[in-house]
Amino acid sequence: MAKIKKIVKSIKVDADKCNGCRACEIICSAFHASPKYSNVNPARARIQVISHRLKNIWLPVFAGEYAPAECMGRNKYVIDGKEYDDCAFCRASCPSRDLFKEPDSGLPLKCDMCEDDPTLSRPKCVEKCLNNVLVYEEREEEVEEEVRLEDVEIGVESMIDKYGLQKVMDTVSRISMSKKP
Ligand code: SF4
Ligand code: SF4
Repeated sequence: MAKIKKIVKSIKVDADKCNGCRACEIICSAFHASPKYSNVNPARARIQVISHRLKNIWLPVFAGEYAPAECMGRNKYVIDGKEYDDCAFCRASCPSRDLFKEPDSGLPLKCDMCEDDPTLSRPKCVEKCLNNVLVYEEREEEVEEEVRLEDVEIGVESMIDKYGLQKVMDTVSRISMSKKP
C-alpha cells in the first residue's frame, strides 16, 4: 500500500482537571446537529464524560470505532486510588452499552475531530473546555493510505451486522421506490 504524509490530529486528556461541567458534550452535539447549532442533546455528543461523584471520577472519553461484538473480558483500572468501571476507558460503540449511539436511530457515533470546511483551528470541545482538560495536538506522520469510511458507511455497516445484508438491501430498495416521484 502507498505511503502518504498525513497530519495526525489528537486530543490529550488531562482528566484530573475535569470538573464534569459537560460543556464539551453540549458543544459537540450542537456542532453536529443538522442544521448546525439547531439543537443541543448531549446524548448525541461524540465525547462523553464518564462520571462517578462519590469516587470523584470525571473522565472525558471520545467516541472511537464501532465494534460489532462485545469484548470477551473486562478490565478494572485503579489509578491514584480511584477505581474505574469496566468499560470506562473504552471508546467503542458496541452492543453491550448505549454509549456513543445516536439515540433515535441507534447508529454508532464517532469523533471526527470537527471536520469542517473551512477547517477549524481546533475542535469545538477543546475550544469550550475552560479548564484546559482537552489539549489539541497535530503531528505529521508517514502512514499507509487508507480508505476512510464516512459516517453513513459506518452506520450502514452496523445495520448490516445487526439485520443482515439482504434485509438492509430490501429495505433500501423499498424506501427508494416509495421516494420516487
Ligand atoms: S468541558 Fe472540560 S471540564 Fe467540562 S466536562 Fe468537558 S472536559 Fe471536563
Ligand atoms: S473533536 Fe469535535 S467531534 Fe470530536 S468530540 Fe470534540 S467536538 Fe465532538
